[in-house]
Amino acid sequence: MTKIALVWLREDLRIKDNAALSYATQNHEIVTALYVYNKIEFDGKREAQKWWLFKSLKNLQKDLKVYNINLEVLLGDDVEVLANIKNNQDISIYANKVYEPSQKYKETKISSHFNVNKINFKLFKGNILIEYQEVVKDDGTPFKVFTPFWKNAEQRYLNKIPSKPTNIKKLKNSKSFFKNTIQIEKILPKNNWYKKFEKYWMPSETEALKISKEFIKNKISQYGDTRDYPNIEGTSKISPYLKHGQISVETIWRECSEIKNKGKGYRKYINELGWREFSHSLINNFPEMLKGNLRKEFDRFPWVKNNKHLDAWKKGMTGYPIVDAGMRELYETGWMHNRLRMVVASFLIKHLRIHWREGEKHFRNCLVDFNEANNVAQWQWVAGSGADAAPYFRIFNPFLQGEKFDKNGEYTLKWVPELKNFPKEYLQKPWELEKKYQEQINIVIGRDYPSPIVNHESARNAALQAFQSLKK
Ligand SMILES: Cc1cc2nc3c(=O)[nH]c(=O)nc-3n(C[C@H](O)[C@H](O)[C@H](O)COP(=O)(O)OP(=O)(O)OC[C@H]3O[C@@H](n4cnc5c(N)ncnc54)[C@H](O)[C@@H]3O)c2cc1C
Repeated sequence: MTKIALVWLREDLRIKDNAALSYATQNHEIVTALYVYNKIEFDGKREAQKWWLFKSLKNLQKDLKVYNINLEVLLGDDVEVLANIKNNQDISIYANKVYEPSQKYKETKISSHFNVNKINFKLFKGNILIEYQEVVKDDGTPFKVFTPFWKNAEQRYLNKIPSKPTNIKKLKNSKSFFKNTIQIEKILPKNNWYKKFEKYWMPSETEALKISKEFIKNKISQYGDTRDYPNIEGTSKISPYLKHGQISVETIWRECSEIKNKGKGYRKYINELGWREFSHSLINNFPEMLKGNLRKEFDRFPWVKNNKHLDAWKKGMTGYPIVDAGMRELYETGWMHNRLRMVVASFLIKHLRIHWREGEKHFRNCLVDFNEANNVAQWQWVAGSGADAAPYFRIFNPFLQGEKFDKNGEYTLKWVPELKNFPKEYLQKPWELEKKYQEQINIVIGRDYPSPIVNHESARNAALQAFQSLKK
């Protein structure tokens, strides 16, 4: 065994249940943790996550110090940085897998470099319950439908010897390994947009463990009923922590398994973790879906290019209050409730007939929980072009969605406060209130809040017609 170990961190910014870190501290005298910040992967693409990453690395650096582990941050390309390591440096390298084709590519390249140069390199299971290659149909092909996928995956996971949580050992000494480290502050975005996120999030492992514990203790039993209502904090809001690996999905699973009376809430929650597994399986088995439609007939879909509409959607100025509320929540907090993600995605794709890729790109840039697998799989799910997708002809009616899932308008008014004096029955369709009453309450549609950018009925008919054209 070499004296030094280097742990290459990516989406595993935690101490608990971190297999690579644990193995390194059990087997080496000195352990250094490395994060390589690749600007190209973030600039103009994942601006919200720059803030999350900055905070997370800062907190992890502090936490690792207690164990005498230096976290060193470098600017550049992971493969180039790692390829500079020489075999006379008495070092072994460890990492946890990341299940994205571009990350897998890096793992393969690095692995072959270390192989050739006789440097010890070991990859551990990443933040997933079960390796996607293990979940296949009887004929060996991957699943494209969620229910059989999850039935198979969950059973395989349950059949395994339950994994034990891993911990790390405190080391006697620490050592700096790299000379060209950067200040973590360098990661922060140039504009101040992220400042608002400070009000809503604390990106650390401690916070992740706390949130998950409290959710399982106090909320999971109701999750089956509350998860669809954006005015209630009924979901776990663990997604950004899971994305950055501040909590392992196995930790969540283990804690859920300890629930004595496992009811509907438990089942629903576990199924959502199953959707996460499914998305990861999809993008690895069908990587072409990262670039285009999984169902090829959608390549003929007559998408509309309309920057004015796209802009109104991004800014939360479509004139449909529930859609605007969702988009404003996203911009303000870096997160959006799942029900709203479905509503706003459906609106962009079906009412505006703008390509789902535009929405996927915007979410990628604005979400603190952006996850390549979930994002692309869910956008294609809404579009109808993905695996086990919602049929294209099922078109969400935005005002009915608003009336059903935000009955008292609390969520809508939180983000669209200009409508606060509107009578409740007109909140989701404010344009229907007679102009003289709008004037009485001093909010005129078209002046103080936008008129709907498209008419629901005609947009719906146009979408259905466009869909029909695929069948010709
Ligand atoms: C258009 C669209 C885009 C999305 N983009 C992302 C994304 O970039 N990153 C992301 O993590 N999720 C994405 N989702 C899925 C889902 O909206 C979020 O995972 C969820 O809202 C996160 O909040 P939560 O942690 O409170 O979820 P909870 O309801 O508490 O669920 C727990 C966990 O299960 C997983 N999960 C829940 N719902 C889904 C789902 N439908 N598909 C896959 N996994 C799920 C997530 O990891 C989530 O953190 C998207 C959904 C849609 C419709």
